[in-house]
Amino acid sequence: MAKGRLHSIEEFELKDQRVFLRLDLNVPLKNGEITDETRIQASLPTLKYCLEKGAKLVVASHLGRPEGNPEDRKKFSLEPVAKRLSELLEKEVLLADEPRGEVPKALLTTLRPNQLILLENVRFDDGETENAVELAQAWAQITDIYINDAFGSSHRAHASIVALPSLIKKRGLGFLMKKELDVLSGLLNPTERPYVLVLGGAKVSDKISLIENMIDRIDSLLIGGAMAYTFLQAKGIAVGKSKVEKDKVRFAGSLIERMEARGKAVGLPLDHGVVTEFSNVESFKFTSGQSIGAEEIAVDIGPRTVMAYQKTIANAKTVFWNGPMGVFETPQYSKGTFALAKAVSEMTGMSVVGGGDSAAAAEASGYAEKMSHISTGGGASLEFLQGDTLPGVEILKF
Ligand code: AMP
Repeated sequence: MAKGRLHSIEEFELKDQRVFLRLDLNVPLKNGEITDETRIQASLPTLKYCLEKGAKLVVASHLGRPEGNPEDRKKFSLEPVAKRLSELLEKEVLLADEPRGEVPKALLTTLRPNQLILLENVRFDDGETENAVELAQAWAQITDIYINDAFGSSHRAHASIVALPSLIKKRGLGFLMKKELDVLSGLLNPTERPYVLVLGGAKVSDKISLIENMIDRIDSLLIGGAMAYTFLQAKGIAVGKSKVEKDKVRFAGSLIERMEARGKAVGLPLDHGVVTEFSNVESFKFTSGQSIGAEEIAVDIGPRTVMAYQKTIANAKTVFWNGPMGVFETPQYSKGTFALAKAVSEMTGMSVVGGGDSAAAAEASGYAEKMSHISTGGGASLEFLQGDTLPGVEILKF
């Protein structure tokens, strides 16, 4: 494992240097149109900085999961991204139709400072996901300085994330990466309390490592989403046909005990939005209390829960929220999640949202702008907070 410290992009002289900038431009597309450009916007500060400093810029990213079928070449092409980048940067963006080979090399020989090339989807080359040294060597031939600003990909040992920087002496962090690491490090060592962790989403099993790493750092835990019903079951409360992970009920019970032994609160839903079938929107109603009828399925937290959670969040000075409070993709079941987003956005202090679905829920709620930080990397932010080192970050140290 590499030793030393991390270096920010500002520590390098970029003028006339060939800078290989790994970004996370993995945007959602529908019929060739970008449906959410958050990741492009988040990459602009580093891109603009490199161009202003006179770098000869080679930009790389993956997009989706191409599997080598001929139609994937179009479906997962970075072409729409190149077009949008060109509009946002107000300059030509040359798209090299191969992630490696003679085309990028040839383009680079004619590239002037303050210009950029975008390599085609790095996953069009099998070597990317295999972390292939031979692919990294091809890139290393056209690289003086390597900058990683792809936080959302840095938990993966792929060639453009690990093998390439291992061959480049001058390697460092872009601005987005630096911000993500600063904010998330702050969540591991919070200076402002009370510190509230809000967890929701589909599964307890996905969040166990996170909870274990946070239990001694937080002051209270609020639970919603499908996860909550495994916890309520552990407390002996009737949950009807709601989703329960039977093999996690024991863990849920022990977690509640361990939190209580430390004098820390675990908030569980006090009431619920329930339906008779997930698709039967007409049957939606609120329960009067905590227990759920034998034929009912919980799809959202109820208004009493919202009030209680709002109160805890309003008193907090640090909040990390991961996972929706209900099946928010269905508008009738989204009230609890959106009310929670509002509460998190209104608290005075550090409010951080992480995880793909939570970021999407925060955006859909209309309160995203008011959060202190929304992590662009779902998997990477959770791995960081559960105490794992990110290979793409470790390799940058020297
Ligand atoms: P995650 O990826 O763990 O953040 O989980 C997000 C998913 O959990 C979303 O697709 C939600 O629809 C789903 N979810 C949240 N609450 C419930 C619930 N009560 N029952 C079933 N699914 C839920």
